[in-house]
Amino acid sequence: MKRLLDEAAKYLMNTYNRYPVVLVKGRGARVYGDDGKEYLDFVGGIAVNILGHCHPRVVVSIQKQAQRLLHVSNLYHIDSQIKLAKLLVENSFADRVFFCNSGAEANEAAIKLARKYANEHYGENRYEIITAYNSFHGRTMATITATGQEKIQKGFEPLLPGFKYVSFNDIDALHSAIDDRTCAVMLEPIQGEGGVKVPSQEYFKNVRTLCNEKGVLLILDEVQTGMGRTGRLFAYEHFGIEPDIMTLAKGLGGGVPIGAMLAKEHVASSFTPGSHASTFGGNPLVCQAAVATLETILEDDAFILKECARLGGYLKDKLYKLKEEFSGIIVDIRGIGLMVGVELTRECQPIVKACIEKGLLINCTAGTTLRFTPPLIITEEDIDTALDILADILWRLS
Ligand SMILES: *Cc1c(COP(=O)(O)O)cnc(C)c1O
Repeated sequence: MKRLLDEAAKYLMNTYNRYPVVLVKGRGARVYGDDGKEYLDFVGGIAVNILGHCHPRVVVSIQKQAQRLLHVSNLYHIDSQIKLAKLLVENSFADRVFFCNSGAEANEAAIKLARKYANEHYGENRYEIITAYNSFHGRTMATITATGQEKIQKGFEPLLPGFKYVSFNDIDALHSAIDDRTCAVMLEPIQGEGGVKVPSQEYFKNVRTLCNEKGVLLILDEVQTGMGRTGRLFAYEHFGIEPDIMTLAKGLGGGVPIGAMLAKEHVASSFTPGSHASTFGGNPLVCQAAVATLETILEDDAFILKECARLGGYLKDKLYKLKEEFSGIIVDIRGIGLMVGVELTRECQPIVKACIEKGLLINCTAGTTLRFTPPLIITEEDIDTALDILADILWRLS
């Protein structure tokens, strides 16, 4: 391991603060280091490994597809891409799907589609996109501009023109911000990287009404919240609204890199041949893995989604008890389904490191928020084990 870590320090761009662990194997909700150490995984590849590690159905679909066809380009039709688009459309608000390779790319596609739509319907002065402070939409130039966080934009100026920010969960701020130049409002249903911030139930209803009144498109970035993470296939279902455009990535491929941008027909029709493209987007291998993932989520009357909602409740109940016990450290518990944040009175990085030593992978976001995004296939026993480890560490801290 020591040699690998030295080589990582020497050869890789220094873009991540990595933990000194080399993970080489995974099964279900567990991963294993090259030293054989077992970890219970409550990070799940940052909300990617929806079905856990190496889910047999996903693995077999990849194996079979790898023997059949890996890549052909979008000059030709791809059966698994069509199948995946059909599944997504049949199970969402959307009529059409564009495939790409990541969350940032899906958001790039959404931004481009919204601008093209507004340009065609209202003229060239309508290009502005309103996003939220504390949001996260990706690391490309357009998506760091969309991301309402200075620390992510700093040093990369000039940013893209045509973006404006408002406070999340504040309908008055959005009302004041929308004007003749506004083409779209782009929001996460729950702010993930921003610290698992859940808006009020009315917020999205009001956002939808406002967008309708002003003829402004609503883009929902469901890159993190989508694919069952919140106990519904898509998080917008919790708020009783539908977006005009939605982006997906993280959980979509059950571990392989794939992104998607979905839209209603009247919006999607602004993209015509030549408008947008991606060489790898929707390639046979990743689409087959995503089909296997989505079919598994939906099978048995979406049993996995019901379990996600139930286990999310179980996890939060246990966390509330922990909050009573450690009221000096835990100040807030937020989240829906198995996307849960625990806000602390202190930096959570030392706690994350102590958890790793004890065999639990957990994530820290927004400095002081512990984030739980485990696979949806965890069990109550896994939750008990994870919270015993956490409680033990908090006890030593208090
Ligand atoms: C992770 C994330 C992204 C970026 O996805 P990448 O695949 O890393 O480009 C965008 N939006 C949200 C809400 C995310 O959580």
